[in-house]
Amino acid sequence: MKKVVILGAGESGVGAALLAKKCGFEVFVSDKSPIKDNFQKELDDAQILYESGQHTEGLVLAADEIVKSPGIPDKVELIQAAHKKGIPVMSEIEFAYENRGKDEPYIIAITGSNGKTTTTSLTYHLLKTAGKDVAVGGNIGKSFARLLAEEPLHDYYVLELSSFQLDGIIHFRPNIAILLNITPDHLDRYDYKMANYVASKFRIAMNQTEDDIFIFNKDDVEMQNFMDKNVVGANEWGISTQFDSPILRGRFDMSKTKLRGPHNYFNASCAIAAAIVCGVGDAKIQQGLETFVNAPHRLEFVATINATDYINDSKATNVDSVYWALKAMNKPTVLILGGQDKGNDYKALEKIVSEKVKAIVCMGVDNHKILEFFTPIVKNIEEAHSAVEAVHVSTKYTEGGDVVLLSPACASFDLFKNYEDRGEQFKEAVLKLSMLEMSN
Ligand code: ADP
Repeated sequence: MKKVVILGAGESGVGAALLAKKCGFEVFVSDKSPIKDNFQKELDDAQILYESGQHTEGLVLAADEIVKSPGIPDKVELIQAAHKKGIPVMSEIEFAYENRGKDEPYIIAITGSNGKTTTTSLTYHLLKTAGKDVAVGGNIGKSFARLLAEEPLHDYYVLELSSFQLDGIIHFRPNIAILLNITPDHLDRYDYKMANYVASKFRIAMNQTEDDIFIFNKDDVEMQNFMDKNVVGANEWGISTQFDSPILRGRFDMSKTKLRGPHNYFNASCAIAAAIVCGVGDAKIQQGLETFVNAPHRLEFVATINATDYINDSKATNVDSVYWALKAMNKPTVLILGGQDKGNDYKALEKIVSEKVKAIVCMGVDNHKILEFFTPIVKNIEEAHSAVEAVHVSTKYTEGGDVVLLSPACASFDLFKNYEDRGEQFKEAVLKLSMLEMSN
């Protein structure tokens, strides 16, 4: 019986364990950190053996195959030892793909530096609206392996994939691959070399053939450079980030949707292209576009107070997403920026900030870099150390007809648990302000 060892018992590891069990393999799960109670319970219920808080080398290296969590870098000793012994090490995505069943579901895989969740959820929604038998997961919600461990299986799987997940694939070959954009992010995992990060993103298409479709961003310079030098095996469908991309022009009415900003029109164009390939008609696509509600914390409208709109874009954790958020603003903007810096270069924001931003509120523990860069560019710049304070400071600079935009360009871990917590605290502070204004 094939012995499968799974390293890391998070959502992907537990999903892989459940799938391995369903396939009839001998399974052992090993996690160096304590395994969360809910995951332990799932493993217990499925009678899967595991160790929590340690890796026992002898047990791990007895595997015929190792499935490694995307969080574990290739460099660690245990993985190196497995390589030396000739044990195949793969990601959960690869393992799931290899064990996807004989009916071979249709796979749509989506990656990029920004816009993955939006495009994945919209693609799923368009197919679902059209009555297709479809499931969604990967880097959001349920892992691909868990989806395949569950019954019944589906005809279509729409998967959001991170570059870490793509690093561990071998044969994974989606029928449709979507590559949205490539801007600097997570470079610490790629030896600070952009070329390594670009190559990692292109792995999504590396096994595709002429039977498959590769939907990509026609205007992305990093992609153009890569595609000038490397051959993509699939049929290429380039989509423009221009507002009037031909796929939308005259064919779909975006004004009836809740999606705002050119970046979201681009995301929508990619999702529409995938739906068209899957045979969905225009009327169903339009219906899906109109009924789509995006996940929270992505240019999420919160409230209008004294004719100023408050928008929560807490998921904007890099410079490019802030650039596109500002592109989507058509009113004078008070921008709440800051948090844990990931080596940001704010140069790309210089022009758009000077055009659109009337004040910056720096919301972080250490704001010196933002203060230094933006003080010569904006008239008003102030610090805040909590969401409540940031909202309060913002009101000093708003007049009727403005926008207060939380779009931080940074990670949230200095002041908050995560980006969701940051967004929730911002929304709460805005709603408190709204109640205060109403009682005045
Ligand atoms: P991801 O899953 O890749 O993080 P999301 O859809 O969750 O992407 O969006 C993350 C952030 O990026 C949000 O602030 C959103 O407004 C912004 N964003 C969404 N799509 C794009 C895009 N195509 N280009 C740049 N920024 C985008």
